Amino acid sequence: MRKKIIAGNWKMNKTGAEAASFARDLKLKTLNINKTEIVICPPFTALAPVYDMLKESRLKLGAQNVHWEPAGAFTGEISVEMIEKAGCKYVIIGHSERRQFFGETDQTVNKKIKQTLASSLCPIVCFGETLQQRQDGKTQSIIRTQVTEGLAGLSIEQMQRIVLAYEPVWAIGTGVTATPEQAEEVHNFIRQLLSGLFNSQTAEVVPILYGGSVKPDNIKELLNQQNIDGGLIGGASLKVDPFVEMIKVAEDLSN
Ligand code: PEP
Repeated sequence: MRKKIIAGNWKMNKTGAEAASFARDLKLKTLNINKTEIVICPPFTALAPVYDMLKESRLKLGAQNVHWEPAGAFTGEISVEMIEKAGCKYVIIGHSERRQFFGETDQTVNKKIKQTLASSLCPIVCFGETLQQRQDGKTQSIIRTQVTEGLAGLSIEQMQRIVLAYEPVWAIGTGVTATPEQAEEVHNFIRQLLSGLFNSQTAEVVPILYGGSVKPDNIKELLNQQNIDGGLIGGASLKVDPFVEMIKVAEDLSN
């Protein structure tokens, strides 16, 4: 059985002090969670303070982005080594907001994944179609292109160190969630793609998270789907209690 993962993507929210205070509360309120992998992804300036708060717990730290070069003249960017040394275990790559507002493509996603896999970090790689693409019946072809090009050239061993996240763009921050059936259909499709691109064992072990307006009142039915292994959660991860509530749902389903 694949482990459940609940990851909070805080986007451009919380100062270092606010993030550290959240992390302290979260640590205390999740002391009896021992199966679910809990990840929080604060902004870069909050990584160090959050790491200080989490370092003696089983909670994991993630960054929201990384550059594909190891170092150099890339003003405003951050390297794999920098986030790794700041205590991160995960990094989100290819979030739709990065694709939409900052020009990320399947090719930059691919380069970022490869650079990340040269370290100990685990990439959380995001895919998803827009509303227009879904309405035009193009969901599968868009996902196929994103997955095939984003993961091009990876070995089976590398693929087995990656977490994927299906995040339909129309569901992110909109309050509209994919139905469990809509999400499951795409998760199942992604697993079939992985089976063809890598092998069936790889398709079975890679965790695929769902993201897009996940909340305490819809997470259970999503996580109950066979191919949904957790949530990448934006808005509802910004307050400790709803976030803990969702972690508990994941934990209960693992028991
Ligand atoms: C996200 O940012 O990855 C996300 C899914 O956001 P929200 O939960 O707010 O839709």
